[in-house]
Amino acid sequence: MKAFTYYMPAKVIFGRNCIIENKEAFLGLGKKALIFTGRHSAKANGSLKDVEDALDAVGIGHVLFDEVEENPSLETLEKAAAIGKKEGADFVIGIGGGSPMDAAKGASFLIANDGMTAEMLMQEGSYRHVPIVEVATTAGTGSETTQYAVFTLHKQGTKNGAVQKAFADVAFLDAKYTESLSDKVTVNTAIDALTHLIEGYTSKKSNFLGDLMAEDGMRIFAECIPAIRELKFTPEIREKLILMSTIAGIVIAQAGTSLPHACGYMPTYEKHIPHGRANAIFTRAYLELFPDQTKTNNILRILGFNSLEELNGFFKEVLEPREEFTEADVERYTDALMATPGKLALHPYPLTREDIYGLYKKSLILY
Ligand code: NAP
Ligand code: FE
Repeated sequence: MKAFTYYMPAKVIFGRNCIIENKEAFLGLGKKALIFTGRHSAKANGSLKDVEDALDAVGIGHVLFDEVEENPSLETLEKAAAIGKKEGADFVIGIGGGSPMDAAKGASFLIANDGMTAEMLMQEGSYRHVPIVEVATTAGTGSETTQYAVFTLHKQGTKNGAVQKAFADVAFLDAKYTESLSDKVTVNTAIDALTHLIEGYTSKKSNFLGDLMAEDGMRIFAECIPAIRELKFTPEIREKLILMSTIAGIVIAQAGTSLPHACGYMPTYEKHIPHGRANAIFTRAYLELFPDQTKTNNILRILGFNSLEELNGFFKEVLEPREEFTEADVERYTDALMATPGKLALHPYPLTREDIYGLYKKSLILY
């Protein structure tokens, strides 16, 4: 069997009212928390109040930074960390979607290291961080169980994953917070999580333990397919979706994402395509690339589709129609991706320009 390392140190606490019922989980992390949220949702869905009540009940202080924007910038991290330091915060709590959860991860380094700037998160170096708690209120990124954080770099006009990586100490998953998500966001983020499962399962770094998780995650996704088709998201389905998304986070924490994520980046940036849908566009042609179709067949069997065409048909049915792309787009995206070989590194077979061109051409024009 292939050698592997499996590391996922976050304590995952799942279930209705899990924050209040497990408030002791905050003990020992610090004396005062810097809490990260976006501007509105954490106040509206009850997650912020639950965290504040739990901290009050166990005698831990807290200060709120509620200005995390979508795709948080390095500037936001610096602003938040300055407040945290001034207030004497010694651990962080991210409440929300990937944006506040990632902001909390980034700031955990800035608080721990005097003189560290947010730009240093994007560079090599060995830095400590203060303890991190994450409360997921979307079911898609899996940031609560990954070591990754993604930030907007305004100076470079782009987004990038931080080089400095940190797992949460504790991840709380209470699906009731996700009940306020719109149908569209629910579907797009669920498909993002599915593509994490598929890409982690087929990545060069996939391994025995991660594959067990990926297969179970896909089984849970399959149970949600009728609800996704009918847009009927009961509390039970919401629980399944957040669990599936966290499992997908655990999978990509080990194995990373692969070509659909890499291919989707430029079209998303240029045409503002939601991230989950962008990944879905490339999934059929990506899975067709494998000379050995064993894992593709497992994916189809677990999800309950007879062919990749049927899987692609499901994506088309539940996601918005694909944008128009030209041959020139295909050439440009192919050149850009070939110029960043790191983004191709997790594919288990060597790839030629023809492979990548074909992947873009089929996904953006033919399929
Ligand atoms: P998000 O950017 O955190 O939030 C998107 C929107 O959803 C915001 O307007 C937010 O409102 C709202 N929202 C959040 N929870 C809600 C709820 N329960 N009900 C209603 N509205 C809610 O969305 P996301 O898709 O979860 O995260 C995207 C970010 O994560 C990106 O920056 C992406 O690059 C990053 N990402 C990270 C990883 C990782 O492993 N770390 C993986 C993939 C993506 P408020 O602003 O008011 O909260
Ligand atoms: Fe993703």
